[in-house]
Amino acid sequence: MKAHVLTLFPELVKQPMEHSIVGRALSRGQLTVDVLDIRSFATNKHAKVDDSPYGGGPGMVMTPQPLVDAIEATRALCQKPWVIAFSPAGRLLDQARVRQLVAESVTDGRECIFVCGRYEGIDERVLDGWCDEIMSIGDYVLSGGELAALVVIDAMARLVPGVLGNAASPDEESLEQGLLEYPQYSRPESFRGHPVPEVLLSGDHARIASWRRARALARTRERRPDLFARLTLSAADKKLLES
Ligand code: SAM
Repeated sequence: MKAHVLTLFPELVKQPMEHSIVGRALSRGQLTVDVLDIRSFATNKHAKVDDSPYGGGPGMVMTPQPLVDAIEATRALCQKPWVIAFSPAGRLLDQARVRQLVAESVTDGRECIFVCGRYEGIDERVLDGWCDEIMSIGDYVLSGGELAALVVIDAMARLVPGVLGNAASPDEESLEQGLLEYPQYSRPESFRGHPVPEVLLSGDHARIASWRRARALARTRERRPDLFARLTLSAADKKLLES
């Protein structure tokens, strides 16, 4: 999988990617991420990348020239570019979209170009004319798109075949099947008077599977009624929930 990040703060993106799963995927060549400094594309004397908003209002807006030149230069390096700009006013990212992005990257060779905003955001003409998708990572406002880029790259990297040690593990995780994951426990069997649920020590795989399904359904109903409302429950699921 290959991706590009356009940012005013390259180190904010590069350093966190040096560690753990993403760092390993990068060093193994399973993932390539080019990070470009938008400011290096500014053609004005002081490499200025922002200006005050037309119509008045607080803060500064990222001006089109450096951004568009950075996007066009990056697009020219890709066979199948897909430009994603980050904004809290974008479409909300979810696990299904992450999966699609990975499939498009891994099977179709699509290269995502992530555009990180700063200040009060990006001149709308850049979003309208040079970006294929406007993406939000949640209903809150960050200071910049760099954390959003890291979130998407991390979520995508773990779905790239071979990146996670245990290839089966992503399918069981929260949200993969429209459900939250069941609770997990490890050693010791009892910690400060809190025991591990007895069923997990039973060695009875059928009982464990049905306990996990019941816990996943129950916690989805309790914590994420929006997800629960979209589930199609089988008769067995309904029985599990009742029990
Ligand atoms: N004035 C903008 C608004 O109200 O929509 C917010 C700008 S925000 C302070 C600066 C940049 O951070 C944005 O251009 C975007 O790239 C990034 N950003 C902030 N919140 C985000 C979110 N929830 N998802 C994705 N990117 C976000």
